[in-house]
Amino acid sequence: MADRRGSRILTINSGSSSLKFALFEMGDDEALRLAGRLEGIGLGGSGRFAVKDGEGNSLVDEANPLDDHEAALSRLFDWLKGRPEHGGLDAVGHRVVHGGSRHTRPERITPEVMASLHDLVPLAPDHLPQEIRAIEAVSRAYPELPQVACFDTAFHRTMPAVAQAFGLPRDLADEGVFRYGFHGLSYEYIVGELRKEAGSAAAGGRLIVAHLGNGASLAAILGGKSIDTTMGFTPAGGLVMSTRSGDLDPGILVYLLRHRGLDAEELDRVVNKRAGLLGVSGTSADMRELLEREDQDKHAAEAVALFCRQARKFVGALAAVLGGLDTLVFTAGIGENAPPVRGRICEGLEFLGVRVDPDRNARSDAVISPDGAPVTVRVMGTDEERMIARHTRDVVRERGPSGSEP
Ligand code: ADP
Repeated sequence: MADRRGSRILTINSGSSSLKFALFEMGDDEALRLAGRLEGIGLGGSGRFAVKDGEGNSLVDEANPLDDHEAALSRLFDWLKGRPEHGGLDAVGHRVVHGGSRHTRPERITPEVMASLHDLVPLAPDHLPQEIRAIEAVSRAYPELPQVACFDTAFHRTMPAVAQAFGLPRDLADEGVFRYGFHGLSYEYIVGELRKEAGSAAAGGRLIVAHLGNGASLAAILGGKSIDTTMGFTPAGGLVMSTRSGDLDPGILVYLLRHRGLDAEELDRVVNKRAGLLGVSGTSADMRELLEREDQDKHAAEAVALFCRQARKFVGALAAVLGGLDTLVFTAGIGENAPPVRGRICEGLEFLGVRVDPDRNARSDAVISPDGAPVTVRVMGTDEERMIARHTRDVVRERGPSGSEP
């Protein structure tokens, strides 16, 4: 008989002022039942709670202040309790942005795991506190339900030591200052989908995935495992992003401290909130808006050009690490929806075997390279929520719903 434990799963993905959630029925078809967002958390009166069913029909869309993550989750739980999907909820899975070096796979949340997450807060002070609070709020609302932490860094723990190292004094590495990499749930999902769509040879070959959303990174994947990635110690590293600078000459930080007299909070704001597409364009962090305005607005055009050039450089660097390239995948908001950006990133990469068919690219076809091209260039949707639900189901089934070892 099919194992039904851990079938009905709520996923929670907490950001600094928003929280995404989804409810899956993890039978053979892994059906999505509900998906929603709580937005504007802690931003005064601008809170919003919206939910759609699995077919995309709106079930709720209300504006209400959401004072903090706790209040946002209470709103969700109150609403959920009146829904038929609520009955028989089996487990809750959380995206946890940072697992440090200790957490290399999804884990059932125990008091020990919670203590370890508290220890990791200095590595992700903008995200982990909210994630910890979300786990605690679920424990209070559903004390009997197992919870699973799915670490966004875990996928990259297969990177060789040399890819994880920075050129810093050894005591800093001993303290945990090395490249962790992020977007692991997305990369893992893409590798699994690529296996289904294109077979094991493609998924196991020399693969670069470009996850280009508000947060953006690229990963080099070989044999289905991460061997390098652009993000580093924090998600601020690597490619220029919507409001994050990406990689900088470290001397710039020293300059800002010495000559601008910035303190740690101000420095953090400059590199994480005021930089990137927003900083360079001076007007918008949103790629779609910048593309719409680039013909009339020189600074918008410069921001788009910087993003595309840096992404192209990273494709080249990661291809060098892989020793060549078989498949390049574009995913996330920009990767899935912005043909001009994909086209410009690939321009000049013909020497690597990367070619793009303009019509296929304009239609965002599943494969945008011409037939027979040396590198298959793909556009794929990512689904971090579904990856969380899969991991949660698997962890709960491995250990049983009460956490007993098999
Ligand atoms: P997040 O990292 O917050 O999950 P997303 O993956 O949703 O972000 O990506 C958001 C980015 O995708 C924004 O820059 C947005 O402008 C861009 N984007 C979404 N749709 C389009 C489109 N049709 N054309 C260009 N850019 C788009």
